[in-house]
Amino acid sequence: MHRQLRSLRSFNKSNLFHSLSCSRQAFVASTIPTDFDVIVIGGGHAGTEACAAAARSGAKTLLLTQNKDTIGEMSCNPSFGGVGKGVLVKEIDALDGVCGRICDLAGIQFKVLNKSKGPAVYGPRAQIDRRLYKKHLQEYLNNYPNLTIQTGSVSDLLLNDNVTEDEYQLMTKKGASQIVKGVRLDNGQIIRAPNVVITTGTFLGGEIHLGLKSWPAGRIGENPSIGLSKSLKSAGFKLSRLKTGTPARLDGRTIRYEGLLVQEGDNPPSPFSFLNKTVPYADHQILCYQTKTNINVHKYISDHFDQSIHIRETVKGPRYCPSLESKIKRFSGKEAHNIWLEPEGLDTHIVYPNGISNTMPEDVQINFLRMIKGLEQVIMLKPAYGVEYDHIDPRELRSTLETKRIQGLFLAGQVNGTTGYEEAAAQGIIAGINAGLNAMGKPPFILDRSDAYIGVLIDDLITKGVEEPYRVFTARSEYRLLLRADNADTRLTAKGYLAGVVGQERWEHYQVYSKKFNNAMEALENLKMSAKKWGDHGICTNNRTSFVNDNGTLRSGIDLLTWPHITLDHFEELLPELNHLEPSLKERIMIEGRYKPFLKRQEVEVAALKRDEHLNLDINLDYLNMNQLSNEVRQKLATVRPETLGAAKRIEGMTPAAMVILMKYAKRNYNKKVLSSA
Ligand code: FAD
Repeated sequence: MHRQLRSLRSFNKSNLFHSLSCSRQAFVASTIPTDFDVIVIGGGHAGTEACAAAARSGAKTLLLTQNKDTIGEMSCNPSFGGVGKGVLVKEIDALDGVCGRICDLAGIQFKVLNKSKGPAVYGPRAQIDRRLYKKHLQEYLNNYPNLTIQTGSVSDLLLNDNVTEDEYQLMTKKGASQIVKGVRLDNGQIIRAPNVVITTGTFLGGEIHLGLKSWPAGRIGENPSIGLSKSLKSAGFKLSRLKTGTPARLDGRTIRYEGLLVQEGDNPPSPFSFLNKTVPYADHQILCYQTKTNINVHKYISDHFDQSIHIRETVKGPRYCPSLESKIKRFSGKEAHNIWLEPEGLDTHIVYPNGISNTMPEDVQINFLRMIKGLEQVIMLKPAYGVEYDHIDPRELRSTLETKRIQGLFLAGQVNGTTGYEEAAAQGIIAGINAGLNAMGKPPFILDRSDAYIGVLIDDLITKGVEEPYRVFTARSEYRLLLRADNADTRLTAKGYLAGVVGQERWEHYQVYSKKFNNAMEALENLKMSAKKWGDHGICTNNRTSFVNDNGTLRSGIDLLTWPHITLDHFEELLPELNHLEPSLKERIMIEGRYKPFLKRQEVEVAALKRDEHLNLDINLDYLNMNQLSNEVRQKLATVRPETLGAAKRIEGMTPAAMVILMKYAKRNYNKKVLSSA
């Protein structure tokens, strides 16, 4: 039984919402049952992963979203994946997430980008049929165990209501000053839950820009989320503004495709999900086309810069997916920018012109579109527009994506300053898993920088914060050779299964696959011969193989794979069992073999990272009063409040001297843990 801290009778109602000074006196013993274990607000890419992940953990989960029909809406491009982003989708899938398998059902053109470069930077990508994506995702979630979906717009958070002694103790231990107890909808209904995940995308304080016109909206035609933005502000979060934009939608029947460069998909396509060998539309993949802007378009748009309010530089837009206006301004010497004409689905004429998001007035838009090759007669179905919105400083978050400030409150997706469906989904799955595990009283699930791009993404956000919309690309990772699309299941599926968030079907599938993989690797490793003997078997005997000097060294089949011209076909006779492996497995074995020496080296770096990640720093450390540290370092540490020594090291401007001091605190913490567990 929880000790009563204050009688219900004398409890002041004003403490229900936004109790900023969460003093001990404000709490009363809990008498009100919770309705759900986890509430997820928002049915976008972060929200759908979050609610499914929380439900998989066993938590009774509610997805609350403004409109059930827009669950899984792709606000901008009709595609998933790409360089860096594609690995995120594979990682989400490896954790039994939803977007990879739904992309496979709705994918209408699959292509692995960067095929001419190394496998470490392969970028699986797919054009998606927008309508099918939503349809399949909604059907899938409607039948998800432990998950309820309800229409509702959340206007407020229920904070610090009926706090028990235990909750108070946990909260202070975790360094939080408040605790979430549920949400209030705009119709006044209160729904209680000890874990809430906010995934409201571009909706917080959202404002649409089209030419000189602007109006409140989260996406065109959808209401912004004003109340929730205010709740977060009054709970002490610092909100800043970011912006993004989407291009016009065109009538494909009015595009002249002759003379444009054709973009075909891969045949056969590589599915996103490890569960799938093929995809339903493998034989009906659509074509995309490439055209370009030109100097006349650039001049025309420059002449009309004064007709867009979105152009102003006070609010930052996505650097790596800039608007056409930004490209024209930033690269004034460039005579053309590529445009990919991407069909939005199988049974629609709508075409998405990728590369020309802008916020010019509608008449300016149609005029410049018609100056582009192939679009001379084009009909614009919907104009391009921009959106400006609130986001929180992600340094407010832990590596579980729970806020440091409010216990039980998690944030994921665009609201944390990222851009892109994949980045949103990646955060969604981690926030959902941890909200679920929290509810089930289980330890948190944390991925570090050597585990996954998801770990890189979250670590960057929580240690560095954002100044412009953040997106993932391969250069952000120091372990690129390790964090590949092909091995995401090996990196993550067992981890997820142990945490209880990977289902039995996937686990069994993974075990079969990894057994085949391990057997093949073992067979190749055990097959050892001298160079002469390999030569006798017809391997390495061509001119390019002078590397195999017969100095008596025995080399294994895996050693041989480090040479680019050796493929598994070379072992056809010696290891016939390899011939029957599926193509994805063969490719995986070749990549492992090729990278083996480099991976060995990277293991040492990973071990050093793990050492630092295991040295925890107390979240309640009083950095501002650590006089041994410089003022600047103190401020930075107080803002980020890193959870580990490794995270402290990665804060910009951290000095070696400061690290020595922090090491003492981390060791003290470590010794305390060792003593208490002895
Ligand atoms: P969203 O997908 O936006 O989902 C938010 C969800 O929250 C919605 O379902 C909404 O109904 C719900 N919601 C909001 N408020 C409430 C509330 N109070 N109560 C209940 N439910 C609520 N990404 C790129 O990578 N490149 C681009 O060029 C690009 N351009 C974009 C242009 C526009 C105009 C927009 C709107 C987005 C663009 N994006 C772009 C971003 C991309 O759409 C997002 O990164 C991605 O959708 C974010 O996913 P999310 O889950 O965080 O939010």
